[in-house]
Amino acid sequence: MLFKNIIGQHNIIKDLQLALKNGRLPHALLLSGKSGYGCLPIAMALSQYIFCENPGSDDSCGSCSSCIKTEKLIHPDLHFTIPAFGSEAISETFLPAFRKIFLEHPYFDMADWISAHDAESKQWNITAKECLNIVKKLNMQSFEGKWKIQIVWMAEFLAKEGNRLLKIIEEPPEDTFFILIAENDDRVLSTIQSRCQIYKIPPLHDNDIYTALVGEGIEEDEAAVITRLSAGNYAEAIRLKQHTVGTLDEHFLTWLRTSFRGNAIELTNWVESFNSYNREEQKKFIQYGLNFMHELLLLKMVGKAPRLSDEKKETALKLKNVLDLDQINEICELLNDCGFGLERNANAKLLMFDAGIQLKNIYKKIKVD
Ligand SMILES: [Zn+2]
Repeated sequence: MLFKNIIGQHNIIKDLQLALKNGRLPHALLLSGKSGYGCLPIAMALSQYIFCENPGSDDSCGSCSSCIKTEKLIHPDLHFTIPAFGSEAISETFLPAFRKIFLEHPYFDMADWISAHDAESKQWNITAKECLNIVKKLNMQSFEGKWKIQIVWMAEFLAKEGNRLLKIIEEPPEDTFFILIAENDDRVLSTIQSRCQIYKIPPLHDNDIYTALVGEGIEEDEAAVITRLSAGNYAEAIRLKQHTVGTLDEHFLTWLRTSFRGNAIELTNWVESFNSYNREEQKKFIQYGLNFMHELLLLKMVGKAPRLSDEKKETALKLKNVLDLDQINEICELLNDCGFGLERNANAKLLMFDAGIQLKNIYKKIKVD
């Protein structure tokens, strides 16, 4: 992967390039941030830049044999450790699937990785056997030239077995880089964390996500909605683009109105139609709702709702005058609870019917002047 094909993240890329050029790139680095912010693409572009036979001042050449092998994730000195299932599992067995998913879209995350295996109920881990493998591989000579790179994707999955790696991370064999990637560095074994230099990878800017989506052929208005919903996370944006956004916003406003009227039959009908969405769409609905309430809050506090279309802004302006800040917060909490329930496979019908009643109770506090 070339740096120029990474979405956004210019500052972190510059930092890494500079450290490499000055010979100050730490031998163990931990890239911490959601997968959809681009941690793995950054690790891949950095690896390619290290391996490249004719690197330019700020990117790999993209055409030498090292670049071509790295692009395809088949460079023999580039090692991957990834979460797998089975108590004796080693990453090598899972590598073909890992290559496939990365080459399809490099901004995938753990949820995508699990669903690629249809193995949601499995226990995913990085095993003791895999840790021993890492030590063995890195103690061998490099196959092609100088460098060896070990990428550990989702380093949170290194449970106490990870302690087997402490020595090699602390004193790696010559010309070896460890690039650990974690969604949340706090969940990585503290003994490992303390041996790495941590680079925090921030969420992507909206403009970068929007441009990338339009570049993938998404219509501009759809891209704008997905950008608003994805919260800087391109893995989320890719998931969102697989489900149409169009009707969700209207459905959310209908929920607000239906619950306000408090008619049980209407609410039951609404819940039935909500239930016809698949789980991903239901979660997207909640995200849309949270996004809308957030904009409503901004409208109330600073008079602006930059991420609402004119049409939705009109509805928001009406609501702004009837809901106070506490009520808006309560609705956000309610939506968060619903999202939490859906994540845990609660019964969507019961959940949303109950939420409709709670919403009615929140409205009841409306003061009529
Ligand atoms: Zn090259």
